[in-house]
Amino acid sequence: MASEQPVGTADIGVTGLAVMGSNLARNFARHGYTVAVHNRSYGKTEKLVAEHGDDGTFVPSESVEDFVASLSKPRVAVIMVKAGAGTDAVIDQLAEHMEPGDIIVDAGNAHFPDTIRRENALREKGLHFVGSGVSGGEEGALNGPSIMPGGTRESYDRLGPMLEDISAKVDGVPCCTYIGPDGAGHFVKMVHNGIEYADMQLIAEAYDLLRHGLGASAAEIGDIFEEWNAGDLESFLIEISAEVLKHTDPQTGKAFVDIILDRAEQKGTGRWTVQNALDLGVPVTGIAEATFARALSGSVPQREAARGTLPAHAGKWDVTDRDAFIEDVRLALYASKVVAYSQGFDQITAASEENGWGIDRGAMARIWRGGCIIRARFLNRITEAYERTPELPLLLADEFFTDVMDKGVTAWRSIVSQAALNGVPTPVFASSLSYYDGIRAERLPAALIQGQRDFFGAHTYQRVDAEGTFHTLWSADRSEEKQA
Ligand code: NAP
Repeated sequence: MASEQPVGTADIGVTGLAVMGSNLARNFARHGYTVAVHNRSYGKTEKLVAEHGDDGTFVPSESVEDFVASLSKPRVAVIMVKAGAGTDAVIDQLAEHMEPGDIIVDAGNAHFPDTIRRENALREKGLHFVGSGVSGGEEGALNGPSIMPGGTRESYDRLGPMLEDISAKVDGVPCCTYIGPDGAGHFVKMVHNGIEYADMQLIAEAYDLLRHGLGASAAEIGDIFEEWNAGDLESFLIEISAEVLKHTDPQTGKAFVDIILDRAEQKGTGRWTVQNALDLGVPVTGIAEATFARALSGSVPQREAARGTLPAHAGKWDVTDRDAFIEDVRLALYASKVVAYSQGFDQITAASEENGWGIDRGAMARIWRGGCIIRARFLNRITEAYERTPELPLLLADEFFTDVMDKGVTAWRSIVSQAALNGVPTPVFASSLSYYDGIRAERLPAALIQGQRDFFGAHTYQRVDAEGTFHTLWSADRSEEKQA
């Protein structure tokens, strides 16, 4: 039911009533909250109340002023508008009518440096600004998303219980927790999306390997994925991949996946993740290769120039033991996936340290178990790993994951080398294996790079057998100098 703009009665407000905002507002209403609703153009507000008034109690407003006035104090207004300039415009309008102690939540996909900037500006006015990641698309927004709120602890005390209420639940535990100050929430959502890129690319590579190696049809691979979904790889992404692969195009009767143009698009969160990882100096090779793989797929003139021109000299793939091959691909996928997650958690660790966010990594894995796109059985294992060793320096080094590697690494090597010999690209399978061998190496060729750097730029080096920093006089007598 809709009531006539009562003042100060709504528990929470949502402004921006496109698909995400209206579903989030309905979710709050269904959980018994009185929800103030507002949209720049009033039509969407009227539509929401007319079509879904039965979900609960909505308080619609035509103006921002009335919208703010309809909220109970301290006020909580959630913004769900197009990220970027739209968000800044709405923040300014809300701030004009709000009072110190009130809370503005940006639940859109903001870039975390923007969130830090906005939080700083609003703090000066005495307002709390909460940048909150929300994952799960429109379905999640309505039925329970994974929610990653940043901002002040104080704001979470007021806001958190409502967000936890409407979030997805796994084993009765909400997929929402306080992430950390200022940009922490949007940062974690960004890395979540980066991991999502890697996860999707890995599944796509597994599909390609099964197709080339076995000559299996899309539907057969869909069946294989369905079986995998009953084991360690159980996840939303494997489940929907099986569904997509088993779908037939009604127009042509062909496998649906075969009528889709093979150019993957992106909205930018993968790119942001990689850009930030470069700034932090954290190797997120899985996410980076997945992002580049999308870029490669969209490199139309380059692909045109290369297709049929570049020699392959590849063998004809001849898999003799079908079941063993499928199991090897599964093991290689699982190992590569663990690497991608381990790298993503390294990035969260580095950013948390740099920004003083104090992010609880185990809790991140816990709130990603439901509601969001990367929800998966194996996230429990990550939470357990951080519970076992809160200061764990490398997720891969946890006993559960070393065991996964122990069981999978031989298959992984076999699959990556077969793919290379047969000319099938596996950017994330292969780079993850290289990362794995790099991170576990006794010694790396980085020593030679230090030698090169000292040779051409006197950049100095350290020795394995002495303290200090050294330089060799390369263009003189090649004696060594200890630097002061
Ligand atoms: P959207 O298409 O990104 O944005 C449309 C909404 O923004 C409309 O309500 C529109 O108002 C409003 N808007 C745009 N510019 C505005 C401005 N200058 N001032 C005031 N309002 C403005 O909507 P969406 O797909 O529902 O997504 C909302 C947010 O959630 C975005 O930040 C998006 O990135 C994020 N998100 C989306 C998904 C998803 O699956 N779609 C998932 C997670 C997060 P009018 O109706 O007046 O034009």
